[in-house]
Amino acid sequence: MTDPDEPLVSVRDLKKHYPIKEGILSRQVGAAKAVDGVSFDIYPGETLGLVGESGCGKSTAGSSIIRLEDATGGEVLFNGGGRAGRTRNDDGTHPNDVTRFDERELKAFRRDAQMIFQDPSSSFDPRMTVGNSVAELLQVHGMTDRDRRRRIVQNLLERVGLSADDYDRYPHEFSGGQKQRIALARALVLNPDFIVADEPVSALDVSIKAEILSLINDLQEEFGLSLLFISHDMSVIREVCDRVAVMYLGEIVEIGKTEQIFSDPAHPYTEALLSAIPNPDPRSTHEGIELKGTVPSPSDPPSGCRFHTRCHRVIQSEEFDLDQSAWRSVLNLRDRAIAREIDVESVREFVAAETDTDPESVPPDAVKAEIRAEFDLPEQLSDPEAERVLSDALDRMVDDDVEAATETLMEVFTTPCEETKPELLDHGDGHQSSCLRNEPDVGAEAVATASDD
Ligand code: ADP
Ligand code: MG
Repeated sequence: MTDPDEPLVSVRDLKKHYPIKEGILSRQVGAAKAVDGVSFDIYPGETLGLVGESGCGKSTAGSSIIRLEDATGGEVLFNGGGRAGRTRNDDGTHPNDVTRFDERELKAFRRDAQMIFQDPSSSFDPRMTVGNSVAELLQVHGMTDRDRRRRIVQNLLERVGLSADDYDRYPHEFSGGQKQRIALARALVLNPDFIVADEPVSALDVSIKAEILSLINDLQEEFGLSLLFISHDMSVIREVCDRVAVMYLGEIVEIGKTEQIFSDPAHPYTEALLSAIPNPDPRSTHEGIELKGTVPSPSDPPSGCRFHTRCHRVIQSEEFDLDQSAWRSVLNLRDRAIAREIDVESVREFVAAETDTDPESVPPDAVKAEIRAEFDLPEQLSDPEAERVLSDALDRMVDDDVEAATETLMEVFTTPCEETKPELLDHGDGHQSSCLRNEPDVGAEAVATASDD
């Protein structure tokens, strides 16, 4: 029925914004853009990984696709490439758009698409035998024959590595790994085409993890499933995914075959995620990149490229040619100054305590040196003009004129990455990434300098 060359699921510009409300009248004062324009396809029998740090919107994307939550915008075309779904309605909507399904269509969709969650304990009713928990779905979807339901579920329990006798046992009698096996049985009982697995092994012990991953791999083949596999863990993603979509602050920043993503990552964020894998490939050239700071708030995402506030390859303003890590440090200093998060007084007190002197008698140069040290700034920037501006700003800062210091920093130290939003560009063979360094007119010079850092 399904054509292997047509996507089973096509996600188009999917958005999910949560309103932020305030005050007794609960007036909406903003929105958390948890998912902010995400597009990808999932093909029959394929596993697409969705990876990114905690809070980047993976779960929200998964549950919006499966319609456990209502999307704010965009489309999720299910079986949209099939004969029935090829043409759009007169008003431009698509008959196979999950986000527009009515009750009846949704009920049919619920047979075809299932979700598995991280915590298997919370997904079972403790008072119901696990067999009945699984069989319940068959009943809801119209199977009236009780014995038949039992036979089907017992068979399925065996296929997920448990025994038929387990049908009559209760959730508390099973370990976490076994419960996740039962969750898999329940996800499979209606013979779906598509499963969203949201961090399915993240709560399990290392040894159990591998077992469940290999079970998922086996079942996928056996049942011909398409999977959206959500994880924050690159090493888990590598085990099970055919392709990977890398998500940052509600957006996809890179997508491609697993092999491409792991051997030749195009986006600095992907590089950073890869270098965080505890046991990196010894051939890997992406070690030692530290992903500092936390993910910014999705209610007020950074301008331009959303990753620019943390990116180790952030592009320099044209007039400078600093060591890349020094440039990152300069921008960190600037951003913390803008946020008014540099407390000169406590730096002075710190230096005083270290040198066993009075805060009043700490020389300004010692305070400057300490601020530089805190930001990993070299004693002297390699570019004299940049050094002059930085040193001048630090003087003002130490002189308690934070306002003027910040203004100087903002005026001189700018990056195209905060001004221009990069597009997802093609590297060939389905590999895409969104980084300004890809865009010849903006990034060419920067790529040249960044590659020899
Ligand atoms: P992930 O699964 O990648 O860890 P989530 O999808 O859970 O990320 O969350 C993405 C962002 O949306 C986070 O900033 C989170 O705080 C926010 N968020 C998630 N659910 C809600 C909700 N029900 N109401 C408001 N904000 C939410
Ligand atoms: Mg999540």
